[in-house]
Amino acid sequence: MRILLANPRGFCAGVDRAIEIVERAIELFGAPIYVRHEVVHNKSVVDRLRALGAVFVQELDEVPDSGTVIFSAHGVSTAVQVEAERRGLQVFDATCPLVTKVHMEVARFAREAREVILIGHEGHPEVEGTMGRFDASGGGRIVLVQSVEDVAALQISMPERLAFVTQTTLSVDDTAAIVEALRARFPAMQAPRHEDICYATQNRQDAVKQLLGECDVLIVVGSQSSSNSNRLRELADRAGIPGHLVDGAAGLNRAWFAHARVVGVTAGASAPETLVREVIEQLRSWGGELPQELQGREEHVVFALPRALRPREAGALRSD
Ligand code: SF4
Repeated sequence: MRILLANPRGFCAGVDRAIEIVERAIELFGAPIYVRHEVVHNKSVVDRLRALGAVFVQELDEVPDSGTVIFSAHGVSTAVQVEAERRGLQVFDATCPLVTKVHMEVARFAREAREVILIGHEGHPEVEGTMGRFDASGGGRIVLVQSVEDVAALQISMPERLAFVTQTTLSVDDTAAIVEALRARFPAMQAPRHEDICYATQNRQDAVKQLLGECDVLIVVGSQSSSNSNRLRELADRAGIPGHLVDGAAGLNRAWFAHARVVGVTAGASAPETLVREVIEQLRSWGGELPQELQGREEHVVFALPRALRPREAGALRSD
């Protein structure tokens, strides 16, 4: 049984930064550090940070006064930000800068009093945060569209002032189909200045498409709550091969590989490489050969930490 590894896979720059923000905050200010929502959607990452002293909460009312809170990589609404300020909480914002870019687009469209369509998945924290960045007091509004079917049912009152944005971790192909359906109904609709689906989502989906041409089972390492990991697994459905999303080696089922000649392995943007290595070890114990990594797009994106958590500034802050 051959094992092929997708490239790129696993951690993106936004996840790297979010995890480091939690680690640095615990190091500098001591436990507990409160984190609103799972900082990234990965069970093993969350468990490790919890063991270091992070306390994961759903809402700010679970954070005591004078507490330090970190906003997750998925971003928060304006109301959450304002509430944290009102309470005087010390906040470190781990929102991925590529999500912040979408927030800024939404804020601009609100200032222009546009009707805005957000393409995304209901209930996902990024969608809640982005919807909550739209200030409707200027006369505009924001609506969520999840599918091509939703487009047909849309009631738009200002088609000439319509614009759209998207969640960052969507299926590139599904989103293109939704945008096409929107354009067919609303030709004047304004697009974001730059693509909202992020580079990491795009690159990981492209890498899996390349892998699917060569494998007969796909394993995606990632958590069920991870949007981009689910989108990777769905690519296997489209290719007509079995695809499985697992948190780690313990989630593998030997029966999946009974007739497999080539197993493809990838990982979502929030899944650590250590879990991929454990999956490979398990596959090798079931007869897998040494893994081969496919050629892929190189990624050099790095996002800076908040100023107060950078080593030099942090030193100054501690000596204050
Ligand atoms: S998947 Fe994309 S948007 Fe999400 S944290 Fe990573 S780089 Fe940022």
